This record gives sequence, structure tokens and C-alpha cells, in this order.
Amino acid sequence: FQVPTAVNEPVKSYAPGSPEREEVLKQYEAYYNGKVEVPLYIGSEEIKTGNTRPMSPPHEHKHVVGHYHLAEKKHVEQAISNCLEARKAWADLTWEQRAAIFLKAAELIAGPYRAKMNAATMLAQSKNIYQAEIDSACELVDFLRFNVEYMAQIYSEQPESSEGIWNRVEYRPLEGFVYAITPFNFTAIAGNLPASAAMMGNVVVWKPSDSQVFSAKVIVDVFKEAGLPDGVINVIYGDPVMISDTLLASPDFAGIHFTGSTHVFKELWKQIGNNIHTYKTYPRIVGETGGKDFIIAHPTAKPQQVATAITRGAFEFQGQKCSAASRVYLPKSTANEILDLVKADVNSFNKPGSPADMSNFITAVIHEGSFDKLAKYIDQAKADKDAEIIVGGGYDKSVGYFVEPTVILTSNPKYTTMCTELFGPVVTVYVYEDKDWSKTLELVDGTSEYGLTGAVLAKDRYAIDEATKALQNCAGNFYINDKPTGAVVGQQPFGGARASGTNDKAGSMQNLLRWVSPRLIKETF
Ligand code: GLU
Repeated sequence: FQVPTAVNEPVKSYAPGSPEREEVLKQYEAYYNGKVEVPLYIGSEEIKTGNTRPMSPPHEHKHVVGHYHLAEKKHVEQAISNCLEARKAWADLTWEQRAAIFLKAAELIAGPYRAKMNAATMLAQSKNIYQAEIDSACELVDFLRFNVEYMAQIYSEQPESSEGIWNRVEYRPLEGFVYAITPFNFTAIAGNLPASAAMMGNVVVWKPSDSQVFSAKVIVDVFKEAGLPDGVINVIYGDPVMISDTLLASPDFAGIHFTGSTHVFKELWKQIGNNIHTYKTYPRIVGETGGKDFIIAHPTAKPQQVATAITRGAFEFQGQKCSAASRVYLPKSTANEILDLVKADVNSFNKPGSPADMSNFITAVIHEGSFDKLAKYIDQAKADKDAEIIVGGGYDKSVGYFVEPTVILTSNPKYTTMCTELFGPVVTVYVYEDKDWSKTLELVDGTSEYGLTGAVLAKDRYAIDEATKALQNCAGNFYINDKPTGAVVGQQPFGGARASGTNDKAGSMQNLLRWVSPRLIKETF
């Protein structure tokens, strides 16, 4: 059985004066001036509970662009019963019927919904147009297209049979429902987590991040228009503890698809463990969590290439990527040259500002909590003897949550910001003696509990090979002569180990296999 060959959706340039740029800006204005009400989506119902929270763009937090409604416990229970009802028909569709819905969703996003997806992501998550395009248009489309291709491969995988015996496998969905918890930082991840479980025949209760409600709503509109039956993906907002307590207490809880903080994921894991006797099946636990992603440059690395890897890897998307470069190791012989190039590059950016001004490379961080945390670490670095701020260091939350791209230089390889995940545009640099290359690799491996991404830059092949071996457990995505961010679906499946997650790569066959419970049938003639 053939499915359309998946191709990466080309990134549009949004050149000044182009019709696509005008269209996104018009849509942004419409959303900015509108007052959207986001309900809960449970079964066929759109529920307005009346208990609401305002939505405001991070770059203009006093401006309200709408409200979203919060669930009570009874709504969460309703979501469980509605999706279990929907499961009866959904699980019995052929995989081709399900695939067609998600391929249609991909084409809607690539076409008529593209401007809406991008404008909503700019507004909700303060991404500039290029960042929004890469995320909410291209990456989400890629996830849907490539996962359909992987899905086709899974369903065609069959065991050997022999004379008089026919062995076959049915890839059944999990027995129950899947709980999807998604982050603010990627609209693509928000769409992919519920979709990849649903694609494999599962029903889902989805809790998007409070900071991503606007773009999550556009995803729901797309799925509906693509023909996703009611109740397959139910969307709820509200108190995360109440929602998780209710869902995880259900005997029909069959799996969790999570991207978010390490702390929350570990708490959920514990809770699932405590409730294990309640469940009909062993729930699948799939999560991508934090990172403390590194760049290490060898003395033979090209200074300009290292500087670009730092500024792009650390500051694109305001550093709000799990994969963002946040600790950097530079050799003494080239450190000054590299840091001068970093300064020049950052000085060429506009001051952080609104994503509606498309020349802004750096916009706002997501919310006040994030802003305050970053400000605290920046102030601490200003005060500490073993740290100094060599680029940026400014912040201002009077209009939006703006933090300047900041480089901290430290003489202490275990300095707080070399070890703690900050999730913002702050990177810390440590300079090592050239002769200590091997020791520094050990330091890179031993400094953080995480294992998500990392990059080595070098011309020397022996140095590259040594780093690749020494750092084999501390980056699920390891980059040679590149920045540690920007994984492309279908090319670099993404995920990390250690405290960074279960490493069930997003956008891979291995991930989709977590959402099925295969039944082997042996028939003897
Ligand atoms: N896939 C993204 C990248 O490679 C990061 C995703 C994330 O932040 O979770 O940069």
C-alpha cells in the first residue's frame, strides 16, 4: 500500500511586500483586535464554563486578545467518557482512513490555514514570522506527513509465515485513552503529540500549555475541518494538578505523551506508578523534558563557524528551545576571537521587540515567571566574582517580557548557569586550556543531568571522533560542526536521554510504535 511520499514543507521567505507577508500581518491584526473565546472541546460539544482566564501576547502583556475557559473535574470526567465512546468507531477505522484525515490536516496547514497558524503563533508565543513559519507551518506539516509515511511502514511490517501456518500482526491502539500534555514553545509539538497517538487509532485527552491556547485553537479548527471525528481529540484547560489527578486515576488511562519540564514529568511518572494497580494495562510513558545543551569547540574549529553556532543556537526563538545551546566550552587560543564575533553578531540584532515588526530577531520570553527567573540569574552573574556579563544583561518587563540576548563568561566550569536549565536567551561560556581537550570532554559529560542535544566543532577528525565517543550518553541529538538546534522532521528525529526524556524520537516510527499494542495472530490450516 502506497502513501504519498513525505516531503519537507518548503519555508516561505515572507519578503517585504510579498502577498504572503501581507496576509500574515493582516491576520495578526485581526487576531490582535479581536476577542476570541476558546471553549473546551469535549466530544461534539464546545463548552464555555464561564470560568475564564485572559490571553495576552508576551510582548504586550497588558493587551488582552481573548479568554479561554477552564475545566472543572466533571468536564475532565466527561472528556474521558466521551473519548472512550468515540474510541469504539475510531479504533475500527482502517489505518488508511485515519491517515487520510491527517494528510488532509497537513494540506490545510500548508495552504488555507498557514497565515492563521503563523499569526496565532506570533501572537501567543511571540515568535517572529520566520520562527512561526518554521514551527507552526513547516514543522507541524512535516510531522503529519512523515508520521503517515512511518505509519504505513508499521502496518506493512508482518512476520514470516510457513507452510500451513499464517502469522500476522494487528497493530491495535492502546486499550483506553492517551493523555497529551504539550508545551508552549512549539506549536508543532503541540499538534504532533495528540495527533501521533490519534493517528495510531487512539483517543486522546489533550491539555495544551496555558501560554499556547491561541495557536492550539487553530490546530483544533484544522483537525475538525480535516474530518477528525468528535471525541477523538478532546481539549481541556485548567488546573493541571486537578486535570492530571482525574485522568491518572482512571482505569482507562493507557499512556501519556508529554513535552515539558523534567520535574513535572517525574512527578507524573511517580503518580502513574502509585496508581498502577488501578489500570487495565501498563501505561506507555513517553516524554521529552529539559536540556542543558552544549557547544564544545576544538582549537582547530573555525572561529566564525563557532560564533554563528553560539548566536543561532542560543538566541534563536529567544533560547526557548529544549535544544538551545546554553553552555559553551571554548579553547583559550581562539576564545577572544570567537567572543568578539559573537558580540558583533548580537550587536547587529534589534533590541528585543514585537514579532509584528518582522525585523526583530529577538522578541519576548513567554511569561512573567520566565522573565523573573532569567532576570534573577542575570543579576546573580553581575554580582558573582566568578562570572561576568560580556554581552547583553538588560531586561525590561514594562510592556513585554523582554530579555536581551546575554552571554555570561565564567571561570568556574560548574557555575550555576553552566548547570541549571534557564530556558531563555542566556548562554554561559567557559574557556579551557587547549591542552585540556580530553579533560574538558569529561567535564561536558559530567556537568549536567540532561542528555538532549550538543555540538562539537573541530576540523581535526581525531578530535571529532574522540568527542563523539566521550559524549555518547549526553546528547540524544549530537551535531558535528553545526549548532545543536533545528532538527528537521524526516531528517533528524529528535529526542534525548538521561533526565531529558524517554528518547522516543519525535517524528519517528519508534515513537508511533509506543501507541500501539500489537496482536499476533497465528492461524494453522
Ligand atoms: N526540535 C527542536 C530543535 O531541534 C527543539 C524542540 C524542543 O524545543 O523541544 O531545535
